[in-house]
Amino acid sequence: MKPSLIVHGGAWNIPDDLVEACRAGCERALEVGMALLARGADALVAVEEAICVLEDDPVFDAGRGAHLNRVGEIELDAIIMNGTTLDAGAVAAVTGVRNPIRLARRLLDTGPEMMVVGAGARRFADEQRMPICDPSELVVPRERAAWERWRDHPDAALSDFATPSTAGDTVGAVAIDARGHMAAGTSTGGTLCKRPGRVGDSPLIGCGCYADDEVGAASCTGLGEAVMRVVLAKTAVDRLRGGEAPDSVAGYATALLRRRGRGTGGLILLDRTGTAAVAHTTTRMAYAYVGADGAVVAGPSRMA
Ligand code: ASP
Repeated sequence: MKPSLIVHGGAWNIPDDLVEACRAGCERALEVGMALLARGADALVAVEEAICVLEDDPVFDAGRGAHLNRVGEIELDAIIMNGTTLDAGAVAAVTGVRNPIRLARRLLDTGPEMMVVGAGARRFADEQRMPICDPSELVVPRERAAWERWRDHPDAALSDFATPSTAGDTVGAVAIDARGHMAAGTSTGGTLCKRPGRVGDSPLIGCGCYADDEVGAASCTGLGEAVMRVVLAKTAVDRLRGGEAPDSVAGYATALLRRRGRGTGGLILLDRTGTAAVAHTTTRMAYAYVGADGAVVAGPSRMA
């Protein structure tokens, strides 16, 4: 089996001056994940490490660089799913953890629970001796400025997301390894000026992420409440079961997100042969994968 990996860095109205940074960040994550897969690593390892690269990149709304909530704090959500066992590890509204995808992976490995939130997630991080950082270390000047602009109009920040023009650069990765094992993961700071404790689609199994070795795997991004309405990742993966081409499934899923979810976003997808697809309803989406001819396919498109 030829391993395959696709990563994303969110679907939104990515401004011209961020195009190169978003694209380069995705290409770096792809390179790290693909190198691991080429050396025989498990799909879960490739997904975790690729997402760590994206979380560490301040251009994205995950880890350092995440959006601030209404009270000026960063609360992070992440999930990683094992397509062989259908187990997941997920954390939500966790503070002071630089790489929530690693915490999610730890929960997946230790079980038996599949999701921990808020103070419980933080306690789990302490128990697991995960590195804890000062929450202020995750805040970047761009996000502090966005919070200052929107904090008195949090609902407007959200409806603006739906238009869409506010940053929504959640990250994710989907992989199949040489043994045919699949994994998917998603990590986010959620929406700008969200209510404290608000959890979107990203860490919810079936919504922001799903993986099943028998069929395929997906990671989503976009307005969480819209993605949740149509259980987007599971809807897309289920549709692969009938043998429909990944491109067609991705197009169907994003049309459903717009029509029934009533929101914008995008997703990345791999079927169990490793064929990748990406679709979005937003003007741009950041992503990278290795195409059938071995060349890297990445977006947003380079500026002329
Ligand atoms: N889906 C994320 C959330 O609603 C945001 C995003 O993907 O940009 O929390």
